[in-house]
Amino acid sequence: MSPISDADLDRFEGHLESWDCSNLWIIFHDYSARSCAKWIPQSTIRNAVRRGGIFARANLNFTIDDNQVPDPRFGADSGDFFAIPDPDTLVPVPYRPGLARVHSWMRTESGEPWEGCPRTQLAAQLDRLAEHGLSARVAFEPEFSLYHAGPDGSLIPADQHAMYSVDRVSDDFDLLARIEQALVAQNVEVIQIGSEYGKGQVEINIDHSTPIKAADDLLIMRDTVRAIARDAGLVATFMPKVDAAAAGNGLHVHLSLWDADGEEDRSTGDGPLGLSAEMSHFIGGVLAHAPAICGVAAPTVNSYKRLQPASWAPAHISYGEGNRSALVRIPGSSRRRLEFRSGDNTSNPYLLLTALIGAGLDGLDNQLDPGQPAGEDLGHASQQELDAEGIRFLPRSAGEALDAIEHDETVMAALGPVCGPELLRVKRYELARYEVEVTDWERNVYMERV
Ligand code: GLU
Ligand code: MG
Repeated sequence: MSPISDADLDRFEGHLESWDCSNLWIIFHDYSARSCAKWIPQSTIRNAVRRGGIFARANLNFTIDDNQVPDPRFGADSGDFFAIPDPDTLVPVPYRPGLARVHSWMRTESGEPWEGCPRTQLAAQLDRLAEHGLSARVAFEPEFSLYHAGPDGSLIPADQHAMYSVDRVSDDFDLLARIEQALVAQNVEVIQIGSEYGKGQVEINIDHSTPIKAADDLLIMRDTVRAIARDAGLVATFMPKVDAAAAGNGLHVHLSLWDADGEEDRSTGDGPLGLSAEMSHFIGGVLAHAPAICGVAAPTVNSYKRLQPASWAPAHISYGEGNRSALVRIPGSSRRRLEFRSGDNTSNPYLLLTALIGAGLDGLDNQLDPGQPAGEDLGHASQQELDAEGIRFLPRSAGEALDAIEHDETVMAALGPVCGPELLRVKRYELARYEVEVTDWERNVYMERV
């Protein structure tokens, strides 16, 4: 996060030249994780990189569909923040020849790190982890669905192929190959691409890396997939639940603990499920703060249509070895890690990891015990069985989830004095607008019966 030196600038310009890029997007992400850019032409790149892209703070008080909240903290008179490029993240955008993109740190007008920056808040949690002699590696598993327009203009799944079959990846070969090549060119390491179980549904697994790079890469991936699909006349959506019958699109997060240098595995040990004591406590923290993390990881009304019992997405607070119904799955391999499964792509991944790691740190500090792992799919358990085991539901609605964030001091402290309250303000306004809508479902059910 140190200021950009002349040597950095020379290197920066050298890269642009070698890629033949004369345009730059300086990108930041708001609390809904929308990629927002200032397009900088060649003649002003040097100045703009030093000074940063200038954005109105008011940007941060708009909902995902461009509605300003009624009670903004950042109104028209709230000034600017500066998006200072992080030179390590400069990459060419292969599907827009001549263009490069770079992630940024949001800074105040006087050049100080700003607590309203999700990337900065994540960096602060990583510093806290380093004070414990630890670092984390993270990999995201995003799912999305491909649609095309039917004869009446409505969107229909791009194919009807069977789950996990080669037919989808075969029919979509050109599209997926273009996406894969574009990701690799942007320094995003793809591990595998698969047909998921929903119609037109695809999953692209991205390699493990530092938490900040993992979130950066996920956001590049979402932009790349949507843009290349649009260029091909398709719609790629990461929306958690497109309709009641469709498979959900999740965003599972894999996290492992390492020593501060990232050399020595600190997740695996001789405790229950082959976990180290540190990883056990970390999971204890994640489970203790699960409702609030879930709020950050799944902050929209649509998220809770996905998090239903017996759906392959978790609805309860539990962990288990190899158990895909559990909130925290310990994948079955000799080297241990956790997989947090309730998140979706309506989240801001920097804030998601900030909440997850903040909660894990609370588990480490207070030596929290994760309790007994769940061996079965809790989605099929009766309320009596759940009560007997002391197993709680995750939040059942966006309202409940957003309240859970607000009531969780640990998660609010990790999000900080701007990102926490402003995430809540924006997402609560989105929810308030939904709550006064009358849907087709209501008309179909009530109109002629009541
Ligand atoms: N699509 C499921 C979800 O919404 C996950 C399926 C899987 O385990 O990959 O989380
Ligand atoms: Mg999947």
